[in-house]
Amino acid sequence: MEQKISNSKIRTEVFEELCDTIGRENALDNIEERICYSFDATKEKAVPDLVVRPHTTEHVSTIVSIANKYGIPICPRGAGTGLSGGAVPIKGGIVLDLKNMDKIVEINAKDLTVTVEPGVVTKDLQDEVAKIRLFYPPEPGSAGFSTIGGNVAECTGGMTGIKYGVTRDYVLALEIVLPDGSVINTGRKTLRSVAGYDLTRFFVGSEGTLGVFTKITLKLLPLPEKIGTIISYFKNIDNALNATDSILIKSHFLPRSLEFVDKTGIDAVRGFTKEDIPEEAKALLLIDVDGNEKNVTNDISKIEVICKENSALKTSIAKVSARPCQPGEAVRTGRSDVDDERNALWDIRRSISPSLFKIASMKFNDDFCVPRSRVREVLKKVYELSKTYSIQVAAFGHIGEGHIHLNVIYDNGKKIDLSVHKLVSQILKEVVSIGGTITSEHGVGDAKSEFVGLELSPHEIEIMKELKKMFDPKGIMNPGKIFA
Ligand SMILES: Cc1cc2nc3c(=O)[nH]c(=O)nc-3n(C[C@H](O)[C@H](O)[C@H](O)COP(=O)(O)OP(=O)(O)OC[C@H]3O[C@@H](n4cnc5c(N)ncnc54)[C@H](O)[C@@H]3O)c2cc1C
Repeated sequence: MEQKISNSKIRTEVFEELCDTIGRENALDNIEERICYSFDATKEKAVPDLVVRPHTTEHVSTIVSIANKYGIPICPRGAGTGLSGGAVPIKGGIVLDLKNMDKIVEINAKDLTVTVEPGVVTKDLQDEVAKIRLFYPPEPGSAGFSTIGGNVAECTGGMTGIKYGVTRDYVLALEIVLPDGSVINTGRKTLRSVAGYDLTRFFVGSEGTLGVFTKITLKLLPLPEKIGTIISYFKNIDNALNATDSILIKSHFLPRSLEFVDKTGIDAVRGFTKEDIPEEAKALLLIDVDGNEKNVTNDISKIEVICKENSALKTSIAKVSARPCQPGEAVRTGRSDVDDERNALWDIRRSISPSLFKIASMKFNDDFCVPRSRVREVLKKVYELSKTYSIQVAAFGHIGEGHIHLNVIYDNGKKIDLSVHKLVSQILKEVVSIGGTITSEHGVGDAKSEFVGLELSPHEIEIMKELKKMFDPKGIMNPGKIFA
């Protein structure tokens, strides 16, 4: 909770300079307001010295130039929903709140592109382009409140990755304010470009450590006509995993989403949903397919057969829907066209994370990914380690891609904190040893910075640090993230 502009004269000087250039109403220095910017969706906290709320690229450039002149840390922030501590200003300094830059600048239907400011909420963009039957596919669980700027900075994944890829696959061009305040434009507003090194890809997933995105051009697709949803419950994990192999590998179906939940996750959501979940269920698969109505209906019935062939205890199928929806949407909007049946099934998946707090007050939210063929093996190891340390875990995630959200659930205390740390380290070592990655969508932030060395060699880390130094020689841009 320490403030890092230790000299109060300089702090006042910086504040006044910021007020002069971006307006007093856009700069915050009182403690009540600054505390609101001290955390993200992890439980980490660090109060910034100052907060600024720019409205334009010129504002951002001026603010960053001032931070650069004084050598003050600057931490970009979208909605603060990150799960790796990315938006927490752990070295103090200035938090740059980008939520006021929330305009959809241009939708170009013929070019299949959209250009937005970074503070646009993901679902608002999806809804806007859906009005003209276009589709922005990446769908994190936080789509209803996270921002496109945060999504690009974390290379956010989500539910539709198996079929449509992740944020990276849709970013065509970026306007970026670099740490010296200069503005560059990477990429082109074309659906393809290979001129020179791919700076756009380099910045996607950079976790606010290289520059600030002030405009983002994204690729769009035609909106699929319909979505079909099926849920299947299994009496063991093996049956569920066999069913996923049958769907993807033997039968060559490519679902829009292929989600898995284990017994701890299932038990946590009992009572939170209208669904009657079988008592013996130890695993479930939640599957979406999209396309035209006939294909969707056909695919769903074939997937139902596959699940039954793999001893499903029960399957439920939602009425084919015209659009995806978020939890609580029917209540929030009062819309009658929001599909209740689909929502009821998806509520199971979306309620897991909050429901796990019924078990204990803390959880470490892991997001590793292994080659698909190694999922069985890694889950076996995870449950063995959970028994060894007597710490409960819940596994769920985008299983079609070999991705697992492993939630380690515990109550605070020095001894248990140490055991959780050991358990997480051992699991991540195991993940890397079988060819996996320590993070596949939440980013490293500072929550996982100590584990980066498990996956990247010292030489690779050195190259990355040199690249960062080239863009940010004073190290002001979100310091303390990615590299411990
Ligand atoms: C309930 C819930 C469900 C979630 N589900 C998913 C999921 O399915 N998949 C997934 O991948 N993640 C998920 N997340 C994590 C999180 O929502 C994503 O990482 C999201 O992209 C963060 O966006 P944000 O706007 O909240 O960014 P913030 O948390 O504010 O910031 C995240 C990082 O981006 C940087 N940043 C923000 N804006 C900019 C900018 N304009 N320029 C440069 N850097 C910037 C910040 O410095 C920080 O490092 C979930 C989180 C919650 C709470």
